[in-house]
Amino acid sequence: FDRSLEKLKELPAETLDQHRVTLMVNTGLLSDISPGLEKGAEGVGLYRTEIPFIIHESFPTEEEQFRIYRKVLKEFHPRPVTMRTLDIGGDKPLPYFPVEEDNPYLGWRGIRFTLDHPEIFLGQIRAMLRANEGLGNLKMLLPMVSSVDEVDSFFELLRKAFKSLQSEGVVVEKPPVGIMVEVPSTLFLLDYMAWRLDFISIGTNDLTQYLLAVDRNNQSVANLFSRLHPSVVRALNYVSEQAYKHGLDVSLCGELAADPAAVLLLMGMGVKSFSMNAHSLPRIKHVIRSVSHEQAVGLVENALRMQSETEIRQMLNRTLENAG
Ligand code: PEP
Ligand code: MG
Repeated sequence: FDRSLEKLKELPAETLDQHRVTLMVNTGLLSDISPGLEKGAEGVGLYRTEIPFIIHESFPTEEEQFRIYRKVLKEFHPRPVTMRTLDIGGDKPLPYFPVEEDNPYLGWRGIRFTLDHPEIFLGQIRAMLRANEGLGNLKMLLPMVSSVDEVDSFFELLRKAFKSLQSEGVVVEKPPVGIMVEVPSTLFLLDYMAWRLDFISIGTNDLTQYLLAVDRNNQSVANLFSRLHPSVVRALNYVSEQAYKHGLDVSLCGELAADPAAVLLLMGMGVKSFSMNAHSLPRIKHVIRSVSHEQAVGLVENALRMQSETEIRQMLNRTLENAG
């Protein structure tokens, strides 16, 4: 079985009826680069920049960040690398920047933190743009966005970074910019977001946590963290419909992208790109190549009429079994 998965590396992630999707990897460590490439990843769908920050002893300088980002962009070139701006807070505290909060998941996380520290944000944006010089495969992704204002504030900083770099003689290119759809409020803002952005990436880990009010890391409520809860399925379908309507590319970079049953459903909804850990990639490709897109669309229609995750999973598992 493993050997046949190995052979998949060179084959496209395409359904029996020639519907093509893109399979990418999630990384954050330089040591993840070669496993991603070995498994045939078509790029990085989520580069978690907080990881180099967490393993440092103090805030990495712009120069230190530049060197790391440059390496990742170069290794994957010409494939795209989606670099997410710093997403600390919540379950990812910085050892050298302790923050005391009663509700860290509802607190000073992601873009909320970086917008309050423009000097840190600007340094990171500059490091990314410099790393992209002459390569052009950088995509920028904003975490924990909950309002349009945050996106506009980011673009102000991006313009500032552009100006300062140009005056220093750096050749800067505008990278595609997207947001993580992971705070439920963004679901209802996609018509305002669409003209501002080039793509969206659904973060099902946080979206599920916030939609169901279930802490993603609390064992006492782990049984309520239902990845295919009918409300989650409807939310995902709504995002896909909205994105399609507004011509936004949708990708998915939460754990759900490594769940074969869920990928069937998401592909049926129109999600074009899936980003996961390198280890899961061959299996997901195998599943995609064993079904038709038409079948996946039918599964979505059925799932939207179901009342429980159990019922939805049973239907998806039957399909997976029949597909072999
Ligand atoms: C998510 O929230 O689904 C996600 C991919 O980001 P993270 O797990 O880093 O919060
Ligand atoms: Mg998240």
